[in-house]
Amino acid sequence: MLVIGHEPVGVIEELGQGVTGYKIGERVLVGAITPYGQCRACLSAQWAQCGHGEGVEAIGGWRFGNTINGAQAEYLLVPNAQANLAKIPGELSDEQVVLLADIASTGFSGAESANIRIGDFVVIFAQGPIGLCATAGAKLMGASFVIGVDGDPVRMKMAKRVGADIVLDPKEINVAEEVKRLTGGGADVAIEALGLQETFENALRTLRPGGRLSSLGVYSGKLQIPYDAFAAGIGDYKIVTTLCPGGKERMRRLMSMVQSKRFDPTPLLTHKFSLDRIVDAYDLFGSRKDGVLKVAITP
Ligand SMILES: [Zn+2]
Repeated sequence: MLVIGHEPVGVIEELGQGVTGYKIGERVLVGAITPYGQCRACLSAQWAQCGHGEGVEAIGGWRFGNTINGAQAEYLLVPNAQANLAKIPGELSDEQVVLLADIASTGFSGAESANIRIGDFVVIFAQGPIGLCATAGAKLMGASFVIGVDGDPVRMKMAKRVGADIVLDPKEINVAEEVKRLTGGGADVAIEALGLQETFENALRTLRPGGRLSSLGVYSGKLQIPYDAFAAGIGDYKIVTTLCPGGKERMRRLMSMVQSKRFDPTPLLTHKFSLDRIVDAYDLFGSRKDGVLKVAITP
């Protein structure tokens, strides 16, 4: 059994042999994905698919809580520390950076992988914490019109706060038809941030021919593409997938976005609990009560 938790912020308590340039007591952020930095995947800039040793391995960069103990503990052993300890600038608080480890890195990567261009129409399916960061990312990358899709009132409101121009409730409206109407023929980019057949398919249906579907969801079972949503395979569509980019340089870049006030993740951090009350934190998170989006746990 492994300790879970892959969004760590902390203070260096001890340094392993060969780790240089760090001091005990320094505050660091570590990405959810901890690449080795020297394998074929890493050196091809695919850190999340890091091979253990030399090669490539699907999802291999995800180690905390997956292949080794994670962050919901008093102490955390960071693998490949030289590649993964990102020093936190003095003026940034722990709360300002903790959501960069996964949520912001993943959400932004959805926008980055889609190669959003200035002036694009972008629709983001699901406005949970990752979808919200994808929404913020789409705006940062220069989208001219950002459409959020979600039916939860708390999330709909937050979507507008982070950058959505409009939020569509899929229970109230045919999203694909409405997006096509609003964009004059379909979105340039659709980002899927839920991981369901239904949202994947609807994301595809909102696109203009030649549009890009950027998928962040984690799927189970079989994912099917109906031919009519895909111009029978010859509509020039592009489908890309991304797992959270990790490593200290990614974290440095994200912290720099917070420092320069281009992105503020703190509204998404709605609650805070101590480690000994973590069960209450999970109950709250699971119930989606009290407007909860993300919870910080302190030792
Ligand atoms: Zn690697």
